Parts: sequence; C-alpha cells; structure tokens
Amino acid sequence: MSTPSHRCLLLYPEFTLASFWNFRAACELRGAKYPSIPLGLLTVAALLPRDWEVRLVDCNVEKITTADWAWCDLVFVGGMLPQQPAALELLKQAQGYGKQVVVGGPDATSSPHLYDHADFLVLGEAELTLPLWLDDYRAGAASHVYLPGKNRADVSCSPAPRFDLVRLTNYLYPAVQFGRGCPFLCEFCDIIELFGRVPRLKSPPQLLRELDALFKLGHRGHVDFVDDNFVGNKRDVKLFLRELIAWQDAHDRPFEFSTEASINLADDEELLRLMSDAGFSIVFVGIESPDEETLTHMRKKQNTRRELAASLHKIYDHGMYVNAGFIVGFDTERSSVARGIIDLIEAGDISVNMVGLLFALPGTQLSRRLAREGRLHDGFDRVVPASESGDQCTSGINFDSHRPRDEILHDLRQVIAEAYDPQRYFGRVQRMSLRLNCRNKRLNQGLRDHVRDFRGLFRLIWRAGIRADYRRLFWRTLTKVGRRNPAALRYTVGLCALYLHFAEFVPFVLRKLDAAINAEPGAASLSVTSTKIPVPASG
Ligand code: SF4
Repeated sequence: MSTPSHRCLLLYPEFTLASFWNFRAACELRGAKYPSIPLGLLTVAALLPRDWEVRLVDCNVEKITTADWAWCDLVFVGGMLPQQPAALELLKQAQGYGKQVVVGGPDATSSPHLYDHADFLVLGEAELTLPLWLDDYRAGAASHVYLPGKNRADVSCSPAPRFDLVRLTNYLYPAVQFGRGCPFLCEFCDIIELFGRVPRLKSPPQLLRELDALFKLGHRGHVDFVDDNFVGNKRDVKLFLRELIAWQDAHDRPFEFSTEASINLADDEELLRLMSDAGFSIVFVGIESPDEETLTHMRKKQNTRRELAASLHKIYDHGMYVNAGFIVGFDTERSSVARGIIDLIEAGDISVNMVGLLFALPGTQLSRRLAREGRLHDGFDRVVPASESGDQCTSGINFDSHRPRDEILHDLRQVIAEAYDPQRYFGRVQRMSLRLNCRNKRLNQGLRDHVRDFRGLFRLIWRAGIRADYRRLFWRTLTKVGRRNPAALRYTVGLCALYLHFAEFVPFVLRKLDAAINAEPGAASLSVTSTKIPVPASG
C-alpha cells in the first residue's frame, strides 16, 4: 500500500531567555542572525521519509508566515529547556491552525507532562523513536507517546543532517556532532541522563561525509562539534582526529573547530597535539567551582586534585583557548566562593566565562536528591518566558539552598561584575593571546568568509575602537598581541568582538540581580516558579 506524502513544518523555537550565548553583537558584526544551526531538527528532517516534503523554520532567524501554516499538514516542534516557553507557544499556535503536532527533543523528554496536549510525543533520541512513530502513523495506528526505553541509539547509523534546509550565512557557524554521552558523573548534569555514560560515536567516514556536505554548500571557517564531551572516548577520538587531519590537508584546511571537553584533556599530550593539528581552536570546559570539597560533592572528580590554571595553560600551549563555565549555589560552598572563582578566572586567563546559578534540571541526580530532601520547588521544571524577565544567568536556585539566597546572588553579582569589568576582560584576552601557541595554525577561509570578516572588522573598529568607552583597552590589546604574537591576532579580534555582546548583556544581568537582591524576601523573581513541593513519602 503506498503511503500518502506529507508536508512537514519543522519549527525550532526561539531562545526567549536573554542569553549569554546568543552573542547578538558578534552576529551583527558578521551579518549573521544567530550563532549556530538547529542541528537536532536537521537530523530529524533526515529521518523523515524521502517523499515527505520538509520546510524548516528556525524562529531565532526568521518568522513563521501564514503561508507556512497553510502549506503544512504536520508540525514538528522540539528544543531545549530555555526554549520551553516558545515551544509551548508554537504548539498552541499549530493546534490553533488545526495541525497535528509531533513534539520531541530534550525538554519534552525531561518534562513530557508539559507537552501532553500535543498530538504525539516522540521522546528520547529521534533515531530510536521516530521510526517507530512513522511506522504506526503510516499504518493509521500511532500512539500518543513514544518513550525511549533503556536502549540508546546507534549513532554510527544516524543519517547526515539536512544542512541544505538552512541558509548557512544566517549563522556564525554550523555544527556537527561526532558523539553523544559522557563517562563522568556530575550530579547536576542532564546529558548523562538523556544520552548515557558510554560515549557513542559516529564512524570517522560518516562524520567526514558531513564535513564534505558543509564544504560543498560553500561553508568555510568555524564549525562547532556539539559533542557533550568530545574527549569522552579518547582512544576512538584519536583515531578520528588522524582522519580529520588528513581530510583537512586534502581540502586545503577549510575549517577550524570548537567543542566541549572535560579538563582531563589537558592530561593527554597526544590528544592535545592531534586536536591542535586537526584545527581545533576553542574548547568549552565546565570548571564549575574552584573549591575541592564542592567539586567532590557535585561528583565532578575529574576537576579535583589538579592545578586548574596550569591545566588551562597547557591547553593554550597547544593553540586552543578555553571558554569556561562556573556555577554558584552548591550546598558545600562557602562565602569565599566568589573570590575563589574570580582568582581562578584571572590565574587561568580565561577570557569568556559563563557564570550562572545552580539549576536543578528535571531528571538529574541533583533534582532527585533535592526532591528526596524535600527541598525542590514546585514547578521547578517550568521556565518563565523572557517577557516576565527570564534570563539564562540568573535562572536557578529552584530549590531551598543551604546558604541564604541573597548571599548566593551577591556572590554571582560580584563574579560577573568583576569578570566582565573591561580592564579585567581585556587583560585576560591579552595574556591568553600572548600565550596561545598558533605556530601550526592554518585556515584557508575562502573569499566569501574573508569578505564577511573584513566587513565585520570595520564594524568592530567603529563600535569598539572608536565609539566605546573601553577603546583604549581594545587598541592596547590588539597592538600588543599584533607585535608579540601576530598569529593569535585573529582570535584576539574575535574575543574583542564578543565584548560588544558582554557590554550589553552584563549590565542587564546585574540590574536583574540587584532587583532580586533588593526584593522582599521570598518575592524575588528568578526564572522558575518557586513554591515548595511537599516532601515525598519515600525516596
Ligand atoms: S563532564 Fe560535562 S557532560 Fe560530562 S557529566 Fe560532567 S557536566 Fe555532564
């Protein structure tokens, strides 16, 4: 029996929370609308039957038109926790237009009850559940919910994402994913709950085919590996890196890469060298806290028993710079935590630091423990939309904290204010750039990206070098790095461009923190609802 074709509208909800990561000003400089592509939905698109027509709208870069709604008969919506308010709104709109809606993605998987009014909940990894739904749907017998069960998807069979469905120039960089899962045990992390602790990897030829596709679509320059922990399986990642180096050489080095990795990357000289040779230049590392007891308590043992700043410097010595994440609000934290974080940021010369409040994500070890202890707040998994002043850094403490809440907010405020003071920021950019070993770095970007860079540079000079209060720091940083380590200048310019974003975002966050600190006790609005859940009968 032949199956009727469908017209599928894939919707990627807007990140409505004011975001540390949207790098709005940096996007403007390069004529982009958003940092990165909706990789998960592009993979979902690749899993749909070939004779189904697919249109993708990323609400972060474009609006859905009435023609889009009229065109489709099936709507797919999915995203992460910060996209929750927009995802729920899209679901409502789609149902208002009388469309059938399929919901999936990490947030719906962690909090399915919030999306229960969708026609179909296809949860977990799409490679596992979407084919089951498709078979039933085509047979006219689809169930309401498809749960992932205990199995994990074999990503070595995942199709290549449909990169052709997005306009790559709308983004700063496209993304690929080599593997899912992470071997570590951090208590607050939802990755290991969603994707497991055994890293599952694509085959090297499979990933290289994805890079081929990006290359053929004309992309040159930055590509982000959105792996949960790129070095989770060091042996296999080294095999892949050797093939990636050969691919880069065969294509005249068109790409350079960023990714996320655990700090134990710094312990493996061979891995550092291979990543550097393959063209990796930026690594995000979750440092979380400078305090050993707190790291042990959150089960982030890989960060303990080491000199963290020395580990970071070792990564810079291999031509990769580190962006770091810190979290405030852990049970074992002391009042000295703010000073400790600031000192580590300075000692490690970490330019970009995402500092936020601890958030008990649904389905994590942390939220289970807090629920057992009767400390988790009711509605802890609901995000308040930006229109009600949500933002990413101050969303959190959705539980009864051990330290007074105001003290935690003060600490967060102090870290953000000091870390993004222009003198401090440009000082770290300068020190890191002077240390960055770029001797073997080569990137052949191609004309289109050179033009984009050139235009961006003029805009940057106008905004940061002429009009900004911190213009002296800007020029001093560029001249010093230009004189003493010119090969690193490209990265220095990029980090100076990012400061345009921080100069807007940080005052906004500080104002929010001030309002929360000055609010009546218990009335301060963080971006989650805050009534306590009754203590569970058993744990
Ligand atoms: S290292 Fe990162 S991805 Fe791995 S468990 Fe810890 S927070 Fe999660």
